[in-house]
Amino acid sequence: MADIIQLLPDHVANQIAAGEVVQRPSSVVKELLENAIDAEATEIKLIVKDAGKTLIQVIDNGKGMSGTDARLSFERHATSKIREAQDLFQLHTKGFRGEALASIAAIAHVELKTKLPSDELGNQIEIEGSEIKRQEVVVAASGTSIAVKNLFFNIPARRNFLKSDTVELRHVTDEFHRVALAHPTIAFKFYHNGSELFNLPSENYRQRIVHIFGPKTNEKLVPVEELTEVLEITGFVGKPEFAKKSKSEQFFFVNNRFIKSAYLNHAVGAAFEGLIKEGYHPSYYLQLQVDPKTIDINIHPTKTEIKFDDEHTLYAILRSAIKHSLGQFNIAPVLDFEQQNQFNTPYSYKNKQASAPAVEVDRDFNPFKEERPHQRTHKSTGHNKPSAGNWESLYIGLESSSKINQSEIEVNTFTVEGDIKTGSMFSTNTIETRKTTFQLQQKYIISTIKSGLVMIDQNRAHQRILYEGYLRQLTLKEATSQQLLFPLQLQFSNAEIELIKQVQIDLEHTGFVFSEVKQDSFVITGVPVGVSESEVSIILDQLLNDIENDVPDANFSAADLLAKSMAKSLSIRNGQSLSTEEQEHLVNQLFACKDPNISPTNRPTFITMSVDDLEKRFM
Ligand code: ADP
Ligand code: MG
Repeated sequence: MADIIQLLPDHVANQIAAGEVVQRPSSVVKELLENAIDAEATEIKLIVKDAGKTLIQVIDNGKGMSGTDARLSFERHATSKIREAQDLFQLHTKGFRGEALASIAAIAHVELKTKLPSDELGNQIEIEGSEIKRQEVVVAASGTSIAVKNLFFNIPARRNFLKSDTVELRHVTDEFHRVALAHPTIAFKFYHNGSELFNLPSENYRQRIVHIFGPKTNEKLVPVEELTEVLEITGFVGKPEFAKKSKSEQFFFVNNRFIKSAYLNHAVGAAFEGLIKEGYHPSYYLQLQVDPKTIDINIHPTKTEIKFDDEHTLYAILRSAIKHSLGQFNIAPVLDFEQQNQFNTPYSYKNKQASAPAVEVDRDFNPFKEERPHQRTHKSTGHNKPSAGNWESLYIGLESSSKINQSEIEVNTFTVEGDIKTGSMFSTNTIETRKTTFQLQQKYIISTIKSGLVMIDQNRAHQRILYEGYLRQLTLKEATSQQLLFPLQLQFSNAEIELIKQVQIDLEHTGFVFSEVKQDSFVITGVPVGVSESEVSIILDQLLNDIENDVPDANFSAADLLAKSMAKSLSIRNGQSLSTEEQEHLVNQLFACKDPNISPTNRPTFITMSVDDLEKRFM
């Protein structure tokens, strides 16, 4: 048989390599920014159009390239950063594989302009799909500018695979954050579609963090510093009371390179043990310096994992350093004190009989009810729109849920096998029903029904009720709003504000009234009926977290996400005890929902057990 093995032509090899290096616009951003840093730039400008799909340009004032180097830089395995294998063990640069530019040039239109500071003139090169189209001597500033246009122009499948601009821009911004945090003394500017998203001067690490994540970050930072022989730790952790539901502000940098490490993350978690509620995560911005010899250098270009020689020691040092800082800055006692404040009764009440706590959210909140809630003293009456009276007529078949009698609710989904008839789920004797609702472990509401028992998860049930309510408001765009006595100014990071802007209209449809929206803060003058001022930031934090996690793509509905998120924030928690009336109200409202069976996140809201089932169990 004839020989069949051939070497792949360079442009094919490059395209294949590109598949690994360049997954999305943010990968290009990372590579270009890192090259600029390796070139010792002190000022770096990132210009992006259409989330990087149309243009990604990085301009630096670094050391530039000669004409020959400029040409060579696009060859595979062309690098100025290592010369022999030994160099791999003392890497002080970001790049070393000499793959990035070759890969990028294989799948985009690239324009490079570069000049050595010592030269009069610079060089310009244009490349399309690995082919040099033009090279000429030009007037240029010292440093390098690389523009990457029409990413994946020759790989339509990859191009189509890209997510919405919102999602891709978020990846780009994440990458920008990481690089900018790792190098606070380098000045960065970042523009998207002509508007300036970041303008970061050369500054110290604390200032950089505050610049990126917003002014409110400043007060929450606790410095961490530990200098040992094997490891230097500097940076900050967030105070425990500022812990977030999302993990969006967790950063490890090892030798100025962003990395992910579940193991080290665990060490931080261990240091915060007992200080943070479950489901919340501490923020951290930690810079670790280790001897490059002690880490595995064979880092994949797109991966951010890293291997340490002695992880256990790092774990122990990191944990104790953070614990020490939290103690030193008196964080732990402060938090304990606050907890006690929340849970302790004043001395004068010590011997009194405790009464069941009232449920604020549930009692009167029903967006479809005609009456306004009246007992909330912390709000002025505001500009309630006189629209609530029309709700019911718009919802065919849905009576004002507060008036629905249990015995009237038709439920056809829970019939026991063989009993296909649709019927009233609850026994017709309402008096009996009233007596047979009770709460189990402050989590489940148990009630009798004709065929047996129904067990309702109070949190999920309430989420369903609120979710349908908000969804209606959002679709009908007729929410009622209550004006706040004092406008509420809230600070967020630029990136968070961008996200909020995307759902601003929907938020307004639920009753939020925004007066000013600036780059890092906004002012709210009205909130939806039934939402208290203190709940606003809880709602927005949850919402940001949900938008971040529930990556919105083509069939993403902002209204749905918002309704779910608000329902989650405002629903009755497990562990909250409910009076009999409250329990009944919840049950009534649940079965007045269109979809009472499942929570907004598709989990069962209740289960039933028929008398037959019971009997079988007793056999
Ligand atoms: P690597 O960074 O792994 O060396 P790249 O493909 O990213 O590989 O870059 C190839 C080479 O091009 C680099 O080693 C460097 O010499 C040169 N280069 C790339 N970007 C710049 C820049 N912004 N300024 C100066 N030189 C650069
Ligand atoms: Mg590189």
